[in-house]
Amino acid sequence: MMQEILYKETPTLHRNGKSPKEQITYLQKQHHMEDVYLGACLESCRWGGEISIMYEMNTEEMKDFIQNWMQQNKKHLDMLWLTPRMHSFFEHLALPYINHDSCPLGEHEGIIKDHAGRERCGYQSRKEGLLDVCYEVISEKNTILPLEMVIDRLKLKSKGSVYKDYLQFPFDGWTLAAYAKKWHEQGALIRTSI
Ligand SMILES: [Zn+2]
Repeated sequence: MMQEILYKETPTLHRNGKSPKEQITYLQKQHHMEDVYLGACLESCRWGGEISIMYEMNTEEMKDFIQNWMQQNKKHLDMLWLTPRMHSFFEHLALPYINHDSCPLGEHEGIIKDHAGRERCGYQSRKEGLLDVCYEVISEKNTILPLEMVIDRLKLKSKGSVYKDYLQFPFDGWTLAAYAKKWHEQGALIRTSI
């Protein structure tokens, strides 16, 4: 299987006895992630296995972690999200965009754009005598998804409060790095199309 070949050659960053949480703190110190693949960094500070992982971070902290890595690697950023082999493997990975042809809530007519450029449903109805606009998001295709939103949409939604400040994902740290790369690329794509 291609995935097995891919991961056999994967560089590993060892924690050297640190807990995942200590590793998160350690990596964010100056130069500690320099010239290290984001995927390897994200793999070294997680709990769990290949199909489900957990970080002792909330969404905001994960965003800061990824941005810290970007800061440490700004000179060679494009080469360091993933290994060269993984670039083609994850090429068709899609960000968790909403992209419908029409309103998902019903046979509603009319599309309006909000200030961020999202297409929303403009269907109007009367509720208790007041005019109500549906406003459901139909498509985000011409907008840039913020990193927090990407993380929030990818994470597993857990019931109860035990894991409130933890993030869980149904894939490994390399895949999370691939999503972060896609997030970063959407800015470049929109900038070049203007
Ligand atoms: Zn609607």
